[in-house]
Amino acid sequence: MTFASAAELPGYVPVYSGKVRDLYAPLDATGRPVEDRLMLVASDRISAYDYVLDTPIPDKGVVLTRLSLWWFDQLRDLVPNHVVSTDVPQAVAGRGVLVRRLEMLKVEAIARAYLTGSGLEEYRERGSVCGVELPAGLEDGSRLPEPIFTPTTKAPLGEHDLPMSAVEVEAELGREQAEEVSRLTRAILSRGNEIAGDRGILIADTKVEFGRAPDGSGGLVLADEVLTPDSSRFWPADQWRPGRTQPSFDKQYVRDWLTSPESGWSRTSGEAPPPLPAHVVDRTRAKYVEAYERLTGERF
Ligand code: ATP
Ligand code: MG
Repeated sequence: MTFASAAELPGYVPVYSGKVRDLYAPLDATGRPVEDRLMLVASDRISAYDYVLDTPIPDKGVVLTRLSLWWFDQLRDLVPNHVVSTDVPQAVAGRGVLVRRLEMLKVEAIARAYLTGSGLEEYRERGSVCGVELPAGLEDGSRLPEPIFTPTTKAPLGEHDLPMSAVEVEAELGREQAEEVSRLTRAILSRGNEIAGDRGILIADTKVEFGRAPDGSGGLVLADEVLTPDSSRFWPADQWRPGRTQPSFDKQYVRDWLTSPESGWSRTSGEAPPPLPAHVVDRTRAKYVEAYERLTGERF
């Protein structure tokens, strides 16, 4: 059980535990859960290759929460967000945020500004990514002519997200909303890169989640987290060299260790990954903190 105990969080009931975040519903004066609010609490858990690892990364929950709040502000004029207040119980201070409870779209909204990872694999096979034709000759880390929208399904816990075609997204959301999700996701990444570029970071790609009011009123609302090292690939701009794997500020370091001989783990074994050694934990924590400090210009 990963939820904080009832004694630590009086006035809240647990409703869901994701890979990284725990969700609670606030209780009203009569002890009933409030329907239109949630408290999102980011833990120090880290996931890689769709596994939640046994080893937490200290302070990661606070870093992700503070960075998301900072970005929500930077994106305020592009899209409304779910944040209501950061006034939360002491036990989750800095990691908890009170938000509007939304009906989440069943699409992981991904945009890519640079080519790498699964996008690169698809490009090498077909010359396109998610149906978007790309110029010939791109390599690992190449900058795309403009950000592209490459959505996936939102798979249940333990299953892999799968690429979605434009037709599938339209079938799920309707034409108008599908276009809006694509436009907003690309705009968020573009704004992110405008801001991060001045601070020496390239945002290669990112995933966001949108929701809408359960009664259907109002437009799309940006929810969950935004432009964090968990949801995005952050590259140090001064070391960017297309044609190789880029150094990064995100959990690529953990992924690389897990797939190195040192871990003794094989991705295809079907077994859970081993605990992380102290040096990987320390390096990963330092990378998350550095991304936060560089972007916001604040000391952690
Ligand atoms: P992933 O790693 O793909 O994000 P997850 O679902 O395990 O998977 P978490 O971030 O651990 O992710 O959990 C957060 C959950 O809270 C997600 O299911 C997300 O869709 C949901 N969520 C975020 N914001 C809201 C909101 N405002 N209203 C309702 N649900 C929300
Ligand atoms: Mg998430």
